[in-house]
Amino acid sequence: MWLYTLAQSGTDYVGDNAAIITGNGSELGNDKVLKSRAKRKLITQTMALSLIDIAVKKEDTEKQKSLWNTYHCQNKLITIDGRFYGKYCKNRNCTLCCSIRKADIINRYLPTIKQWEAPYFVTLTVKSVKANMLRRVFQK
Ligand SMILES: [Zn+2]
Repeated sequence: MWLYTLAQSGTDYVGDNAAIITGNGSELGNDKVLKSRAKRKLITQTMALSLIDIAVKKEDTEKQKSLWNTYHCQNKLITIDGRFYGKYCKNRNCTLCCSIRKADIINRYLPTIKQWEAPYFVTLTVKSVKANMLRRVFQK
């Protein structure tokens, strides 16, 4: 059973042989997309295992659960009509989910940015300060 809906994002598995598929999925035949995804997956799983070790030492079970969700993010994929779909963990420390979040943000802002005459991307950074200095540094 495959159900399609564009109103939600993510894929939910409903038993062993059924899933509710949502979203646009990713192209199966695109090597560049697949290699990039595999690289992000490897980085995420390596990082998650290291962070799980720390969470175990700190006995932080909530963090462990979250990190295991990240570790298993997109582990099970469904292919249909030349595209693949999977369930996302949606955690901030997951490079797979962050890339999707970034693409979504770009698509939302792009129509507005395209109307600007000369857009620039600027990142402002400043050295960390103690809480009592925040207001002064922010205003500076
Ligand atoms: Zn994820």
